[in-house]
Parts: sequence; C-alpha cells; structure tokens
Amino acid sequence: MSEFPHLRGFSRSELIELFAGLGEPRYRADQVFRGLHGRRLMSFEEMTDLPKALREKLSQATTTRTLKVESKYTSIDGTRRFLMKTPDGHPVETVFIPTENRDTICFSSQSGCPLKCDFCLTAKLGLLRNLTAGEIIEQIVIVLNDVYGIGNDTPHGTNLVAMGEGEPFLNFENLIKALEIMSDENGLHIVPGRVTVSTAGIVPKIFEFSELENRPNLAISLSAANDELRDKLMPINKRWPIDKLFEAAKAFEKTLKRGERFTFEYVLLGGVNDSDAQASELASLLRKYGLRKVKINLIPHNPAEQLDYRPSSPEQVKRFKEILESQDVSAYIRTPRGRDIFAACGQLAAVQQTSVC
Ligand code: SAH
Repeated sequence: MSEFPHLRGFSRSELIELFAGLGEPRYRADQVFRGLHGRRLMSFEEMTDLPKALREKLSQATTTRTLKVESKYTSIDGTRRFLMKTPDGHPVETVFIPTENRDTICFSSQSGCPLKCDFCLTAKLGLLRNLTAGEIIEQIVIVLNDVYGIGNDTPHGTNLVAMGEGEPFLNFENLIKALEIMSDENGLHIVPGRVTVSTAGIVPKIFEFSELENRPNLAISLSAANDELRDKLMPINKRWPIDKLFEAAKAFEKTLKRGERFTFEYVLLGGVNDSDAQASELASLLRKYGLRKVKINLIPHNPAEQLDYRPSSPEQVKRFKEILESQDVSAYIRTPRGRDIFAACGQLAAVQQTSVC
C-alpha cells in the first residue's frame, strides 16, 4: 500500500476534518473532493483552483493515485479489460462493458479471492488482500477517464457491478464506504440504484446490507439448488447452507419496493447443474421459500484451461430458461462479454496476454 493516505477514499467529512487539521477552511476540502471525484483529476497539480503552496503541501503528505495500469485489452465485442497493480504488486482488474443503452463497469473489491468456487478462475489466485476504499474508487475513475476522457461526461450514465475479483461482502466496510463516496452528487454521482453488488452468500452481511438506508441492488450467486451439489461447487455453502442463505434472501426481499427485484446468478455447467430436473428443482426451491421478487440470471460457464468444466450447450441453456419460465420464474441468459480477453465472469485472474492489443 502507498505510505500516504489515499485521499480518493476519504469521505467528505473525513476530508473536511483533515483540512481543518491543516488549518484549511472547509471549502478547500470541497474543492479537493470535486477535483478528485467530480472532475476526475489524477493529481494535485491539475487542481489549479488550489493555491500552489497547498497543492505542494498535500502532495507531500497524501496521495490521489496509487494504481498502475499494466495492460489494457480490447475484445472483439468492445469490452475492455484493465489490468492494474497496487504499489505492493497485487493485481486489480476492472472491465468496461459497453451496451447500447448504458455502459457498465465491473470492478474488483479484493485482489484475488479467498472463496474456492470450483468453476472460477479468480479462486486460483487465493486472497491477496482487500482493496482500500481509495483503490476501489480509483480503478473506476481510471476506466472512466480512459474511456470518456478526463472529467468528461459519461454519455449514457454508468452502471457499476461489484463482480470483478473478490468477494465484496468480505470487504464490506471499504466497499460500502467507496459506494457512498461515489454516490455523492458533487463527485461521480453514481447512485445506489445504478449499482449491483454480487455475493457468493456471506449470510450475516446480506442481513447487514438489507438494513442499509441507501443500499444498492443485490445479486446472489447460487449455481446449485441443493446443498450436496452447492457444497462441491461453492465451499462457502458449508459455512452458510442454502436454508440460511434463503433466510437472508427473504430479509432482503422484504426491503424491495413495488416492482423491484433482486437476482440469483446461476452459472450453467454442462452435465453438472444444467439438467431439466435441476431447473425444476431450482423453481421449487424458490416456491418453497416463497421468493417471488426474483429473477434468475443464467450465466453460461466461461471456460479456462485450469477449470474442469464445460459450458452447457446453447440448446440446454435455452431449455433451462424455458423450464423456469414455465414455472413462473423470470430467467435471463447473460450473454458472455469479453471472453477472448479473459474479461468475462469468473475469468479474472490477472492473465497477461500477448496476442491481443
Ligand atoms: N464473489 C462474488 C462476486 C463475483 S461475481 C460472487 O461470487 O458473487 C462473478 C459471477 O461470475 C458470480 O456469479 C460467479 O458465480 C460467476 N462465475 C464465476 N466463475 C465463472 C465462470 N467461469 N463462468 C461463468 N461465470 C462464473
């Protein structure tokens, strides 16, 4: 980590306090906040609305940027993967996914991941460390600036998904702090309604998340409808089995407003969890717990050499969806994006490529 405090991870009140300590008035803290987040400036030198002496003082004791962009890859479908490094040498990966209506940035909450989901490449890294709030925000600012130009408006607004490296709910405090800072209207102004946090099922944190006043959307990675199979695919299930997970999901469902829904993600693994009977099992599980305000995102497995799974056939993906729908469960197929550049779900493992730009 950088030896200096990372100002991009300071809330407005923390900045004001820091500036008070430096004998600076509150409006200077507001200027810096706007510079870091609203204008997406990368250094104090660019904050020309601050006196030079103050800029120098700040750069001698604090920092605005710590991540180094190591490589950028662009997929044939327009998806871009940014591979960055922390000062202590850990990878941070961020993916930009352009869509017709709105662009999405998929960001990392941890470097690596401690959960050992059997079908996921990030799991092979193990946990390297939690990202700080400053690092979580900085990766997003770097991507926004690269794609749109420093400080320029995002043409269609941006959605954020915490679906990159790591388990967001194992870095809960830093994640929530970063999201709060990013929602500020003087900053990035990415409001909670445009953010989705995906968890493998850290049950106590799902309860805590449900109670937040301004909470983002939630996605829960399920991928199996019974404990026996889920234990194998996602060992976190041994700690918090489906029954506990669904109690937490019920608590979250209660916080939804009319018309809102949350998501269960289900990675489709050929011959493992994608049979007709397993689709029905999933539908009956939802019925058993009376979960109605849900949709299922079916994610065709993104293969990798180190992973022992194969994707379901497109016909079976379609059948799985139809079986769910025939039992009144809404289901969507997530089109894989950026597979060719190791940017798709479960493919983030700091892969260095030479064959693509
Ligand atoms: N740890 C969080 C955030 C990761 S999000 C979570 O598990 O939810 C990444 C999503 O991609 C999860 O739903 C995960 O189940 C899914 N995934 C992991 N590996 C995958 C792979 N190889 N192919 C497709 N989806 C995968």
